[in-house]
Amino acid sequence: MTAPTTNALGVHALVWAGNTSDQEVRHAVDQTARAGYDILELSLHDLDSMDLGVARTALDSAGIQPVCSRGLAFDADVSSDDAAVVARGAELLQKSLAATHELGGSFFTGALYSALGKYPGPLTRAGRANAVSVIRELAEQASLWDMRLGLEVCNRYETNVLNTARDALRMADDIGADNVYIHLDTYHMNIEEDDVVRPVVEVGDRLGYVHVGENHRGYLGSGHFDFGAFFHALADVGYLGPVTFESFSSAVVARGLSNDLAVWRDLWEDGFELACKARQFLAAHIDASRSHA
Ligand code: MN
Repeated sequence: MTAPTTNALGVHALVWAGNTSDQEVRHAVDQTARAGYDILELSLHDLDSMDLGVARTALDSAGIQPVCSRGLAFDADVSSDDAAVVARGAELLQKSLAATHELGGSFFTGALYSALGKYPGPLTRAGRANAVSVIRELAEQASLWDMRLGLEVCNRYETNVLNTARDALRMADDIGADNVYIHLDTYHMNIEEDDVVRPVVEVGDRLGYVHVGENHRGYLGSGHFDFGAFFHALADVGYLGPVTFESFSSAVVARGLSNDLAVWRDLWEDGFELACKARQFLAAHIDASRSHA
């Protein structure tokens, strides 16, 4: 495989559809291709109702590459102190990794290390050790399939495990697997990081995936996030991995996930218009970030 010379562009499936019926998956793949994206990120929150064969056929025939993502649940949480809860989380991760593989994907990411939601207290030492050991095992399985994992850094209201890029680097060091990468998301960075450049520089060549979302998760450019500085930082570290647009509105509701992410507002109605504008926005920023002397 030749090395990429520019970033593949992705769009999150929640821009198109809330659930994963055959019809919704086909619609999401079709719209992703029509809007000019390379990657469709499928959230596996609804994995049991997704027909993987149907999804694989739709992806392959449209030439769209899948990336899969998910968070865990409080009763299936690998950062818990309770062995039974950890075991359920580990099983969910293995099943989700296998589904990603079946879909033809090579990257599985998200809050793989915890439930997605507001925790009532801080992470415990034992809970962190459980998450590290489960993800280490997951990374071993992933490497057998030539797959990579991402640790998505999420804000304090969605996890108590990794809130900053430094947290993620420490956890990746402790996991100690060379197929575990850091996944930064501008929406979360805006809440937790000191600025939008330093985390990118500190992660450097361990950056494996990027979510681009506005500070309110609506139209790119309609909020206050400093995308100019962020994309310059990506260019400065030579990041050539995927850049995926992530946005949520109450116009598209996913069972469970929309509530976990506190999607209460109607930030857009027309996903197609939103995605086309986002694609232009991303391409323009990537281009501009490389064109200065
Ligand atoms: Mn994200």
